[in-house]
Amino acid sequence: MTFNHDVIVVGAGGAGLMSALYAKEGGADVGVVSKLHPLRSHTGAAQGGISAALGNEEEDHWLWHAFDTVKGSDYLGDQDAITTMCQDAPRTIVELEQYGVPFSRNDKGKISQRRFGGHTRNFGESPVKRACHAADRTGHTILHTLYDQCTKQGVRFYDEFQVLDLIMTPDGEECCGVVAYEILTGEIHTFHANIVCFATGGYGRAFKTTSNAHASTGDGMSIMLRNGIPLEDMEFVQFHPTGLYRLGILITEGARGEGGILRNSEGERFMERYAPTVKDLAPRDMVSQCIYKEIREGRGINGKDYVHLDLTHVGDQVLDRKLPEISEFSRTYMGINPKEQPIPVVPTCHYAMGGIPTDDDGRVERAGRGSTIPGLYAAGECACVSIHGANRLGTNALLELVVFGRRAGMAMADEIRSGKKRAPLPENPEKTTRDLLDDLMSNTRDEGEPTVNVRSDLQASMMDNVSVFRNEETLEAALDDIEGFRERAKNVVVEDKGKRFNTDLMDAVEINFMVDYAEAIAACADYRTESRGAHSREDYQQRNDDDWLRHTLFYSDGEGHYEFDDKEVVLTRFEPKERKY
Ligand SMILES: Cc1cc2nc3c(=O)[nH]c(=O)nc-3n(C[C@H](O)[C@H](O)[C@H](O)COP(=O)(O)OP(=O)(O)OC[C@H]3O[C@@H](n4cnc5c(N)ncnc54)[C@H](O)[C@@H]3O)c2cc1C
Repeated sequence: MTFNHDVIVVGAGGAGLMSALYAKEGGADVGVVSKLHPLRSHTGAAQGGISAALGNEEEDHWLWHAFDTVKGSDYLGDQDAITTMCQDAPRTIVELEQYGVPFSRNDKGKISQRRFGGHTRNFGESPVKRACHAADRTGHTILHTLYDQCTKQGVRFYDEFQVLDLIMTPDGEECCGVVAYEILTGEIHTFHANIVCFATGGYGRAFKTTSNAHASTGDGMSIMLRNGIPLEDMEFVQFHPTGLYRLGILITEGARGEGGILRNSEGERFMERYAPTVKDLAPRDMVSQCIYKEIREGRGINGKDYVHLDLTHVGDQVLDRKLPEISEFSRTYMGINPKEQPIPVVPTCHYAMGGIPTDDDGRVERAGRGSTIPGLYAAGECACVSIHGANRLGTNALLELVVFGRRAGMAMADEIRSGKKRAPLPENPEKTTRDLLDDLMSNTRDEGEPTVNVRSDLQASMMDNVSVFRNEETLEAALDDIEGFRERAKNVVVEDKGKRFNTDLMDAVEINFMVDYAEAIAACADYRTESRGAHSREDYQQRNDDDWLRHTLFYSDGEGHYEFDDKEVVLTRFEPKERKY
């Protein structure tokens, strides 16, 4: 079947819903296609907060927020886009509140704000309270509120439709739709649109230990690669310092924002040694690297590979009122009551700094600035604007969704109003997708193996070789492994031969996508011979601005052949300096 809309948004997390809402309010006819029910999107799992220099608790300024974001990015974030985001943040929070987000309140009745890693007053002097939150369920409240608003405005939802390909015009110049698999029926559909916006989220599932949902499989990024569109800065993968030991489930940084302390086997508050000014509220790249250093030097708890997050002193009221969800997680999953005992934690794969290159209005770029592709937008975690550069500060992801989701929505509505036409469909737009699914369905047990085997081997290799510390040897090992995974992924066996809810088949598709972006991550990490932000090379330990103050662009044909290009970083106010906290 063919569905027609002015705008098709792929993905129904915070970014997808915000862009859909604004495109719809701007007069466009909008359809949202999502492999999950919108309320199951990973945005709903966001805990700790969303930043804005509201100054409700203490003096704050958007310029301080911008400086912290630039410094947090290890000077790789584009400063024009960062300025746009930080200036727009206070207005955004007020708007979310007016839409209905039930933010927590302080004693004066204003929106409550708390500390988060890397957010400081007066250009690095001391930590500042900048994270607005709804207890520790901030993302949940934002997602529900935006979904309500979209429904109210008449956005059309296609739930449990998994997009498997982009439709480009025959000359490959313009985007005119997507191909999706309807999970309920097993039917393949064409969505024909004047403009398509990807908001498909992150790829945390490529790593063995992750805070991300099962559906965070980076499909959108691979679909771009397979259509000749590059990915930007894929070497920068964020590991959040505090995942529950062995499980990776997130304990929000808000726990340290409320006074939590990291301790090693000697009971020492070790972050004091590494970041004397902000201590436990150093940015995530640093804290994760420090935790591994403590473990490597034998100061993991009981000689094991974890440290403690101590919340026993913060008080019952804070735990009950401001951190109820993480208190519950520790009790449920670890049998630990954080009021009485410290929580065992390790770094967990959390966030994709890199992604689909876009300009400040979400237009996807093919080859550096200005080379936008007509009819194609991206927003949210799958996109790279670039706000976060080499390391994202906590609470800036939710902010990015709403600021840049809104901008993309408005820009799309403008284009539609100015008469942007729906480019004609090419002949047989579903062919690539049908071939892919037919090939997977025809694999047999003699040649292939279950998807889960390939997936767990890939996740283990990425975790061992491409996580917090990397070097040439581990990266080349990962790339060798990935070559093998590519062949194995093509041959995975789909046991379920039915049409209804064939999740086995979608798992098989996802592992093929996963190989593509895992390769992008490992190859870009191998290419960048310096250490910057979350990309920590044991064989090139210094940041090297002369050679590497630039974004990486990665192109691939999805068959193991790839090449690189680069893009300049936009510097405005803040000159790159050594990063100390
Ligand atoms: C546990 C956790 C806690 C976090 N806490 C915070 C926080 O406190 N503050 C903060 O700023 N950030 C936080 N983050 C990060 C932030 O939540 C995410 O970066 C953000 O929510 C991503 O939103 P998104 O809209 O880009 O994508 P998501 O919310 O991940 O949504 C992706 C959407 O794309 C759809 N989709 C994906 N692939 C396909 C496909 N092939 N076809 C159709 N649809 C598809 C999915 O169905 C889904 O609707 C947290 C992240 C995690 C994992």
